[in-house]
Amino acid sequence: MPHDTPLIATIVAGLGLAFVFGALTNRFRIPPLVGYLVAGVLVGPNTPGFVADASLANELAEIGVILLMFGVGLHFSLKDLLSVRAIAVPGAIVQIGFATLLGVGLAWLLGWSPGAGLVFGLALSVASTVVLLRALQERRLIETERGRIAVGWLIVEDLAMVLALVLLPALAGVLGGQPQVDDHESLLSLPASYGIWGVVGVTLAKVAAFVVVMLVVGRRVIPWILHYVAHTGSRELFRLAVLAIALGVAFGAAKLFGVSLALGAFFAGMIMSESELSHRAAEESLPLRDAFSVLFFVSVGMLFDPFSLISNGLPILATLAIIIIGKSIAAFVIVIAFRYPIATALMISASLAQIGEFSFILAELGVGLKLLPEQGRDLILAGAILSILLNPLMFLVVDWMKPWLEKRAGKAAPAEERRPIGPATEPGQVASVSAAPEKEDGPPPRTTLAGHSILIGYGRVGSLVGAALKEAALPFLVIEDADKTLAKLRDDGVETIAGNAANADVFAAANPEGAKRLILAIPNAFEAGQIVLRARAANPAISIIARAHSDAEVEHLKGLGADIVIMGEREIARGIVEVVTGKTTDWAGPAVEINPQPA
Ligand code: AMP
Repeated sequence: MPHDTPLIATIVAGLGLAFVFGALTNRFRIPPLVGYLVAGVLVGPNTPGFVADASLANELAEIGVILLMFGVGLHFSLKDLLSVRAIAVPGAIVQIGFATLLGVGLAWLLGWSPGAGLVFGLALSVASTVVLLRALQERRLIETERGRIAVGWLIVEDLAMVLALVLLPALAGVLGGQPQVDDHESLLSLPASYGIWGVVGVTLAKVAAFVVVMLVVGRRVIPWILHYVAHTGSRELFRLAVLAIALGVAFGAAKLFGVSLALGAFFAGMIMSESELSHRAAEESLPLRDAFSVLFFVSVGMLFDPFSLISNGLPILATLAIIIIGKSIAAFVIVIAFRYPIATALMISASLAQIGEFSFILAELGVGLKLLPEQGRDLILAGAILSILLNPLMFLVVDWMKPWLEKRAGKAAPAEERRPIGPATEPGQVASVSAAPEKEDGPPPRTTLAGHSILIGYGRVGSLVGAALKEAALPFLVIEDADKTLAKLRDDGVETIAGNAANADVFAAANPEGAKRLILAIPNAFEAGQIVLRARAANPAISIIARAHSDAEVEHLKGLGADIVIMGEREIARGIVEVVTGKTTDWAGPAVEINPQPA
């Protein structure tokens, strides 16, 4: 047994403490990421006790960034990306410009060089991917128009930072720093003799080359690889292929094209999402993402020195003000200028009012080039930690400001709300609270249905049940947490509640007290058990039908109060037996797989 295992120690301490503090903060209704950051501060070098390896933690966090962006790519299509370019491109540019100006101003007050101000300002202008995505995911906003704008905006910021990272070394001399001599990432840097425009041109050409390679080659090769691996019949190999492609494309994009890891992963995900088969499979491999994105917050916490809050108090406050007030105002103004609703502008401002991983990279580079004083890096770090900590609060503030701002805007508000209008409910069908596809923050609105059935899960099982309920004209609503399925349900005019049904607020919105029946069509018996308990407590008379996949699960669910538990595998067997014994020949429905003839 080796004694020195820094990688294992870092993962164990990071995930273990993050779990403990995440659970604690959750208990007090504080977002768990606050707990992860605290865990990071505790294992960091600035507090006594165990010190984890910061550089290892950083690299682990990078994996988190890659997997997160990969996951976003999976939910994004090129069409979505292009559909928001009209606002995302000018929005990001104006916001970067404004934040940089403020940064230069603060640098000037602190007596730094203009070059230092530029690096400092740029670092304050770019939001963290991880923080933004977590915020959007928690509020289930990723697939809304506002969510798409925020993600598109972030991608433009990412591209701008890629450019900045390449340009800074070339410009260091002009800006009063020291050009980098010892450069490890030779493929990323360009000779200074290219001149500014040459460097810009070559960088843009590399990004364009990457995009073209992905769209032309990746689009063919990636699905081909996945189909090939699917043929081997090994699920393990399939998941491995998905991971290898995500990480490989990200890494290759960074090394060969100078594109950020995050951007590379985003494209890999976007291409995989084009085929339904790979999409499903790729999603299965995403639990890893959650583990690694936790390590991201731990590694940020590790960098933080709580004592700097005292020694650097005022400049830190000013930095923080630029990040959460200056940037927000710029974003708000530009979104409103494009005639989007106030709610959209507020949500985008709040989600971008933080800084993270890119800012650290820029700060490191700036210090390395002797452009940015060490104090600048400390301010950026403190600004990042505090803005990430305060980010959930920003969403609350924004919620609180919304009615006030909307009232002030009054009738002068932009007439054309750009919200897509949901499909109309067909006559005789259940009323639809899902008519507005934009999901709001906070608990979902409560249904007006009573005497209805609550159907949980709309996958292979739930969708068949739903169709039968519809046919029998029984009123029902669906609780579902997959965005794609939700969109389809809305198109079909079915009333939906978005979210995890095991969440108390989500479940309460389905009015279990007034419901007649609860149908659990989800495969996870632990979650189903929680829901059964909750439903029984709310309504002792409700009839509960659940789905299980083993005898143990049947026992478990019945023990918790389910009336009828149907074991999937037994029903499959029954179907097979009926066909074999000739009792039925009528199994040729859409639910039956007919073995395709080999071509
Ligand atoms: P299937 O196994 O194909 O019937 O799919 C199960 C469906 O249930 C999927 O569409 C999931 O998104 C959905 N689902 C699983 N767990 C939950 C949950 N806790 N809350 C809401 N929907 C869920």
